[in-house]
Amino acid sequence: MFCPTCKRLMRPDAPAKVWRCSACGATVPLGKAQQTGKVEATARTVAVLEGAGPTLPTTDEECPKCGNMKAYWVLRQTRGADEPETRILECTTCGHKWREYQ
Ligand SMILES: [Zn+2]
Ligand SMILES: [Zn+2]
Repeated sequence: MFCPTCKRLMRPDAPAKVWRCSACGATVPLGKAQQTGKVEATARTVAVLEGAGPTLPTTDEECPKCGNMKAYWVLRQTRGADEPETRILECTTCGHKWREYQ
């Protein structure tokens, strides 16, 4: 964890539950540095595996956000026969959603 103000290394101050910069005295809440998108994605993946969510097929699409090579996908129904079908993809790692036109 580095100080957002002076970029020096910060030290955890457990009693106060903050990261404290010894150089300029700036503080950052302790939990902030530990909350990464990966933790959320893992919890989400576990939820899917446990059957809490719909079981979706996966494909070898690259996530434009994190570069993961696996994504869930669903086809979104369109009304007009001449409209292209839209494939909605969702990264299995970070949960990022994007669409692909076929
Ligand atoms: Zn500082
Ligand atoms: Zn991703």
